[in-house]
Amino acid sequence: MPIDMSARPRRIMIPGNPPIDLWDLRHRYLIGVPGERPIPRRELSQINEIAIHHDASWFDAGDNDYNGTTFDEDIERMDADYRAANDRLNLNPRRQPYDLYASPNGRLYYVKDSRIIGAHVEGHNTRAMAVCGFGDFTSVWPSLVGLAIYGGGCAVIWRGLWRKVPITGHRYFPAQSTVCPGNVFRPGWEALVELVAQRFAGF
Ligand SMILES: [Zn+2]
Repeated sequence: MPIDMSARPRRIMIPGNPPIDLWDLRHRYLIGVPGERPIPRRELSQINEIAIHHDASWFDAGDNDYNGTTFDEDIERMDADYRAANDRLNLNPRRQPYDLYASPNGRLYYVKDSRIIGAHVEGHNTRAMAVCGFGDFTSVWPSLVGLAIYGGGCAVIWRGLWRKVPITGHRYFPAQSTVCPGNVFRPGWEALVELVAQRFAGF
């Protein structure tokens, strides 16, 4: 699909904080096609945790230190993640596995309606929302701006839900065999995101 150059972000202002630019790209990713399973749905009241991820395992090798200078590069990366989830892993029905993507350049992307159940933490997808960072955080650190927008994305979810839910690295959910979202920050990487989220959300 061509890159939509007319897309513009919605600027979210939380008093006392830098603005968060949220790019709504839900229209970009096809959800389900004839012959696939029905689209799995949930109520927002069922969401009680945020899972944070990196996208390293989806994307081609060689992009571990992704820095996403341009909007186009981010779009290409999300498109590749979408293809990897749907074509390589046979996601059924097809959809974006995550809810939000946090880019190292500070852009935040909304790619799947939160009422549609994603595919990112086995056994916990109905109750968990996903924020995924671009990059392989087993080998490189996220940028500071990337870290800020990771937390900012979680704050946006809290404010959207009107309540606070725990923020947990994918690897800490029960019975997951993954190091996602990376293990070079141990200990405290997810806690750092939570601190940033608290600062952004103001509660
Ligand atoms: Zn993950």
